[in-house]
Amino acid sequence: MKPSISLGVNSIAELNNLYPHKKFCIWHIPEIDKEILLKIKSQLGRRIVSQHIYEMGMPDLEAVSAAQYEYSRNNQANDSVILGIGGGSLMDFVKVLRFSSLNPNWLNENLNTALEKVTEDCKRQPLILMPTTAGTGSEITGTATIWDFKHKTKHSLFGNQVYADFAIVDPQLCYGAPWILTRDSALDALSHALESIWNIHANDDTRRLAMDACQKICSQLPLIKNNLNNQAARLALSEGALLAGMAMSQTQTALAHSLSYEDTLSNQVSHGYACASWLPVVWQLVLETPNNHVVCDFIHQAIGDFFESPMDLVRWLDNLGIQSYDPSNMTPEINQRISMAKSSPRGKNFVGFMQSHENI
Ligand SMILES: [Zn+2]
Repeated sequence: MKPSISLGVNSIAELNNLYPHKKFCIWHIPEIDKEILLKIKSQLGRRIVSQHIYEMGMPDLEAVSAAQYEYSRNNQANDSVILGIGGGSLMDFVKVLRFSSLNPNWLNENLNTALEKVTEDCKRQPLILMPTTAGTGSEITGTATIWDFKHKTKHSLFGNQVYADFAIVDPQLCYGAPWILTRDSALDALSHALESIWNIHANDDTRRLAMDACQKICSQLPLIKNNLNNQAARLALSEGALLAGMAMSQTQTALAHSLSYEDTLSNQVSHGYACASWLPVVWQLVLETPNNHVVCDFIHQAIGDFFESPMDLVRWLDNLGIQSYDPSNMTPEINQRISMAKSSPRGKNFVGFMQSHENI
């Protein structure tokens, strides 16, 4: 079941109305603005039974599994709502934590296969997500990305059961976010929007959402670079990220995401940076794919006001501090990466490859 969404300045007040008779366990990132945290806590008052700080960074399989088991052991009898306040990493973490089980291998046994039903030895707690970055869209997707940095692999906990119950998207939570975090999150959202356009699963609904998202992000992100306190731009970015997430949750991501994972696993490049650095190359591939005018037109409608070509996008990203792979110089390394990614689940969602890449 997809989550109910509250969007807008002061939508945190919605907490007053949710699960009025249940206790709450709060998980939040350490960087959260103290004032806004106080506001959230005052909405819940005595319903709060515990407060935890998430300090693990990107969720690592071994660490998340151990934390889930530990939390389950201490909270098995507890029927609390979990409230997760943070970026994509925290939200993915609490999506796992809400499954309370005394099986220490629960996470390993349920990864990478659709979780449509929970077994009786597992209790699924209600989950509310509040993003502190405008980007990942994790608050509205039925997927938690879990990394195995030891074995350099990426895993997903996904399925109908993984969706949060409520997503509260209040841009006030993003006001204090520093530039690099704001930029990388927004570029992740831009990647979600573009990836859902050059996607074999695209439909009228996802294209409309994605085009709207692209325009909000491309117009507003440079404004925030010059003024981190631009609240109107923050609201537009929150809206853009949400729209992109809604499009992406229907189509899934595609080639740029698939290409990005190696950069994140090998060099721990942030997810948004890693995805964005591949966007010009992937756009170039779309342009070189024969009989692809319809998709090219949709891309033009989405970002044509800002960039006429993939090289324009390279320059725009460069101005934001992102060094992208060069679409005018497809090196053997780039071609080899594309060749590897094309057979991956995300790569297969991409609308097409030019003929010359077929035989690499
Ligand atoms: Zn992403």
